[in-house]
Amino acid sequence: MKSRRRPYSEQRPFDTGGGVWSVPVPIPANPLGYTLIYAIESPAGPVLVDAGWNHPESWLALRDGLTAAGMDVREIRGVVVTHFHPDHAGLAGQVRQESGAWIAMHEADAALVRFMHDLEDGAHRDFQADMLRRAGAGAVEVTEVTARRPRPPAVPDLILQDGDLVDLPGRRLRTVWTPGHTPGHVCLHLEDADRLFTGDHVLPEITPHIGVYPYDRTDVDPLGDFLGSLEKVKDLGELEALPAHEWIFHDTAARAAEIGAHHEEKLRRLAGLLAEAEGPLTLWEVASRMTWNRPWEEFPAMSRGMAASEAAAHLRTLEVRGTVRRVKGSDPIRFVLHS
Ligand SMILES: [Zn+2]
Repeated sequence: MKSRRRPYSEQRPFDTGGGVWSVPVPIPANPLGYTLIYAIESPAGPVLVDAGWNHPESWLALRDGLTAAGMDVREIRGVVVTHFHPDHAGLAGQVRQESGAWIAMHEADAALVRFMHDLEDGAHRDFQADMLRRAGAGAVEVTEVTARRPRPPAVPDLILQDGDLVDLPGRRLRTVWTPGHTPGHVCLHLEDADRLFTGDHVLPEITPHIGVYPYDRTDVDPLGDFLGSLEKVKDLGELEALPAHEWIFHDTAARAAEIGAHHEEKLRRLAGLLAEAEGPLTLWEVASRMTWNRPWEEFPAMSRGMAASEAAAHLRTLEVRGTVRRVKGSDPIRFVLHS
């Protein structure tokens, strides 16, 4: 297969052409390495797509990267956040403090950010512990997962809806709502240049985490949403992708199709796993039997929590499609193929 890797180093600030700079901002102690922040020039000051992880070292990388691009962090006009995750929204608050920039986000993620600010530590811990128990998690997993709580990102000033143009004088930057990775994830279509800022939605080699949270929610279908959002990107045609991780690549539509096929295959294998099971399985049992990039026994507790949430999303989609059902009254909840 043709590699999508571009012949330049993504580790340094880079002029991608057309008034758009790529600035890598490190994510300390994370295998992803960095978030690619994009700075789009405008006569009224640059607009950033994402801001990076909230850490002093990351802040310096952002500030100095913008300087290398001939920009000044104090002149930033606004920050569009593709989604509320800390490697994207983390530094938005500090950019706003330095420059008076606005922060814009889709309303679904803005609601989550407000919820995180309102939720007290004790309530957050109880909520998570309950969820893990209902999923059949072990005591160690409950203790370790509930011990951590990331700082919530800054509350945005502007709300974006699907189809909205971002306040970027002289250019056309349109909001494309792509729920799945988060409920309010957006891609941003630079219509005057046939380029798409894809955030985490469409990445060249890896695929974003798609999870259900809490695990046993039945009012949402994030993977179903994600697959729909991939179709939406396909419909925009063949654009150049400016993703938030890895590297810039061509043909968003082809990559979106590939990611969709990957999840359909995972759904097929999951249904097969339930068909072969000796009886109904808890979420934890399902997750431990799925194929991951390393053996389940070697997963740290935190990664098991992430894997369970991913398994839950796939089970939920199969449930919505009528392939899988939950056993009535089971506690922890058990899943079985629909006969
Ligand atoms: Zn993310």
